[in-house]
Amino acid sequence: MQLMHSFDDFHQLFSSPQRVAVIPHLSPDADALGSSLALSHFLRKKGHQTTVVSPTAYPAFLAWMDEEQAIVIADKEAQKALEAVNEADVLVFVDFSSYNRLKSLEAPVRKSKAKRMVIDHHLNPDIEADFQVWDVKASATAQLVYDLIEGIGDKALVDNQIAQYIYAGIITDTSSFKHPSTTKRVHLITADLMEAGLDTNLVQRRIYDTNSEARLRFLGFALQNKLTVVPDHYAAYFALSIDELEKHSYQPGDTEGLVNYALSIKDIVIAAMFSESEDGIKISFRSVGDLPVNEIAEKYFNGGGHKNASGGIYHGSLEEATQLFLSILPQYDHTILEQVQIKC
Ligand code: 5GP
Ligand code: MN
Repeated sequence: MQLMHSFDDFHQLFSSPQRVAVIPHLSPDADALGSSLALSHFLRKKGHQTTVVSPTAYPAFLAWMDEEQAIVIADKEAQKALEAVNEADVLVFVDFSSYNRLKSLEAPVRKSKAKRMVIDHHLNPDIEADFQVWDVKASATAQLVYDLIEGIGDKALVDNQIAQYIYAGIITDTSSFKHPSTTKRVHLITADLMEAGLDTNLVQRRIYDTNSEARLRFLGFALQNKLTVVPDHYAAYFALSIDELEKHSYQPGDTEGLVNYALSIKDIVIAAMFSESEDGIKISFRSVGDLPVNEIAEKYFNGGGHKNASGGIYHGSLEEATQLFLSILPQYDHTILEQVQIKC
């Protein structure tokens, strides 16, 4: 389903120079950060003042995106973040649709009298917006950023930098054009971005070939020692304690993609990663086909997301979280078997 207010609403919102706070979800990934930066640069070109305010830090492998080091991290620069939100005429929410993904920014955002814009591809948006670009079928929020820019007739403003940000969002959310969300349109947008000067290989290297040695060693450790396969339910998962993470000099982003290794096993159609943190047990779910892991995340793990990629948080021990997951699996046995047949 697609919900896009008419472009008149966009023009109305930005009819005169606005102060804009562009806000990705907490722990922003390349899509949230890339889409925010692409929009921010685009809006600046249109004569607006923008600040990208992230609730929490972004992973180190995305530092190249923040060349000017202009992103305000609310966790680290609380006052600056608060000012950006309080002084904004327009708040733009990027790659999320629920205020509970804002951490310390939630209260000031709720209080703000600013106009609101949402651009997102998650299910069940629950933010009242003056302008909304929302499509759960979109491969990435970055795709929607491009749709918007093109839709309002500003394709010519897409420069190499904006193209890099949009491409970064698309490749990470589609696993480099692997997921079924990768439509012809996604490839055509990429072709457009290349025409705008995009060096695809450069962005690929910046995202996938900038591992630290510690991260690779950590990956080796997790694959060797922390992967549990549950053949009866065609499931596999990782469970990592704080101690184990700290022993491997864990940095934010180091566990990114780990869950996909569990899903890459032949016949595995549901995968999870549980990682202990000070805020609780963080969980990532992945699935194949019609197995709705967003439902599991919503019902049992205070989370949500997409049908095949979701996440949440569990308040309790690592052991309790994995036991809960194992206890839920039998409910999905009927779908699980179907997906196993479809997978290969
Ligand atoms: P990841 O496993 O990459 O952290 O998250 C995959 C997807 O799950 C995200 O794109 C997001 O849609 C969703 N997600 C992850 N964590 C949470 C959470 O705590 N709450 C909600 N509502 N969604 C989440
Ligand atoms: Mn996304």
